Amino acid sequence: MIKGKVAIVTGGSSGIGYATALALSRAGARVAAGARRTDRLESLKKEIENSGGEAMVQGLDVTKKAECDAFVDAVVKKWSAVDILVNNAGLMPLSFFKNMKVDEWDRMIDVNIKGVLYCTAAAVPHMMANKSGHVVNISSIAGRVVFPAGSVYCATKHAVTAFSEGLRQELSTRSNIRVTCIEPGVVDTELNSTITDASLQKFVEAAKQMQALHADDIANAIVFAVDSPAHMNVNEIMVRPTAQER
Ligand code: NDP
Repeated sequence: MIKGKVAIVTGGSSGIGYATALALSRAGARVAAGARRTDRLESLKKEIENSGGEAMVQGLDVTKKAECDAFVDAVVKKWSAVDILVNNAGLMPLSFFKNMKVDEWDRMIDVNIKGVLYCTAAAVPHMMANKSGHVVNISSIAGRVVFPAGSVYCATKHAVTAFSEGLRQELSTRSNIRVTCIEPGVVDTELNSTITDASLQKFVEAAKQMQALHADDIANAIVFAVDSPAHMNVNEIMVRPTAQER
């Protein structure tokens, strides 16, 4: 049951995070969304409230542990619990390794891996105190397969997939905290806008031609996992567009 639960969504300002915040709200959750673009978050809050839901939003850079702690603290102060954490914030500046885009590697490691760890670390103690909770990590197909120009991105998403399984083994059995790893294929969002490697122009164009998934498709998969009965732990959901081969 999602109704009345407190859900946190990181990267709630666009794409999958925005759609997930709306979907969780429609299912009856009180939703807290964090990201850096607070103007987008304010639009999200309005949209939720106009539909009769409850929302709070806060500027959040997941690479800063103090901000992750402060965000979760603010949610607990307002609603006295954290029941669901969706670790969604991420970026995908794909590039060929030989092009040595070191800054982009650093950002992916900081956001895609460390951001997930920091937000989980902030939320899990509250879930443990409640002996109940659900952590949803947005990994990727890239958390299961590897492709050229995706070596670093895939490494970060493999880390998210591995972390999810380790977290499940540790926390599900001992603390009644369920863990779900979501592995989407191509979803029509702003994600490709982080690609700066000019040699990937063809890749970007080809991705635009494909009938991609909608952010709502992934949001619905997340709601399915979170809304499943308490004894059921949906550990992993991989969703590709029908037209996607690898
Ligand atoms: P978007 O680019 O639309 O969304 C990315 C979100 O991450 C934004 O809300 C952005 O918010 C947030 N974000 C980025 N950096 C930070 C940061 N430092 N602190 C807080 N928030 C941050 O793309 P998607 O919706 O597609 O991406 C969401 C997740 O889904 C990512 O983890 C991505 O890897 C994953 N994914 C996406 C796929 C796709 O094809 N689209 C496929 C598989 C996985 P802001 O800039 O406002 O901070």
